[in-house]
Amino acid sequence: KRAREAEERALPATTRDGHRVEIGANVNNPAQVETAVAQGAEGVGLMRTEFLFLERGATPSEDEQFAVYESMLDALGDRPLIVRALDIGGDKQVAHLDLPREENPFLGVRGARLLLRRPDLLDPQLRALYRAAKSGRRLSIMFPMITSLQEVTALRAVCERIRAEVDAPAVPLGIMVEVPSAAMMADVFAPHVDFFSIGTNDLTQYALAIDRQHPELAAEADSLHPAVLRLIRKTVEGAAAHGRWVGVCGGIAGDPFGAALLTGLGIAELSMTPRDIPAVKARLRASDFAELTALAARALACETADAVRALDGGRS
Ligand code: PEP
Ligand code: MG
Repeated sequence: KRAREAEERALPATTRDGHRVEIGANVNNPAQVETAVAQGAEGVGLMRTEFLFLERGATPSEDEQFAVYESMLDALGDRPLIVRALDIGGDKQVAHLDLPREENPFLGVRGARLLLRRPDLLDPQLRALYRAAKSGRRLSIMFPMITSLQEVTALRAVCERIRAEVDAPAVPLGIMVEVPSAAMMADVFAPHVDFFSIGTNDLTQYALAIDRQHPELAAEADSLHPAVLRLIRKTVEGAAAHGRWVGVCGGIAGDPFGAALLTGLGIAELSMTPRDIPAVKARLRASDFAELTALAARALACETADAVRALDGGRS
């Protein structure tokens, strides 16, 4: 029975009518890659590099980072690895960086905003990543908390300078869609990026104006709220107009019904906590893409998050 389960976990998430969705894992360190692959991950869709900074209590050097990225690529073989550049600020504070205190950290200098202000953090990380890319394996880089086109073009320019300095090949560069402005402007960003990955945890927080950690309100921050689904749909349409793919790496990707709905909305890749992978794959493998497309249309027309959840009759 064990052997059958392992075999089943390794099968792709292909619907009964032949539509395949890529399944990635969210990981924080190289040790988690093996677990992820054992659970059926086809790659790493989100490596949260801030944990390298949080867990050590010190800023890792370029060489230390290079060793981490290399060992992850080694563990993955020919599977893809998407590394997110440092995402600090908001709920992720790093004591040793000694950043100024902010009244509203979620609306402050976080993610891409911090990276663009701190070349001492961004440059060594990009150098380590481009050095790791020289082995010719499947590495992509993505940037968190993008809100404007200027951020995208500025970050791309830094990437290109560093790529040339270390004489590395080009790697796919993507952006996180975590702010409504990025979702609304996806068609404008698309020619400047290789892919999009929607961070539904933050996108929900910013769309509904609910602190994702609020003790009283967080339960209402439902990523299946129709407003969030419409932003996801807008992102997919904007990306598709320029032939770019869109993934989701927020928590809802690891919920079987959420994964089914996202697939119906045209999401090409779902990245999640490794332990969620088997149930998501099983759900998609038991679904018809044509039905998921119809389900997504019904969800987009719903008036409330509860109405969307009520569509889960188990027959998607
Ligand atoms: C998200 O916001 O959905 C996301 C994947 O990023 P994080 O949870 O690390 O903020
Ligand atoms: Mg986020």
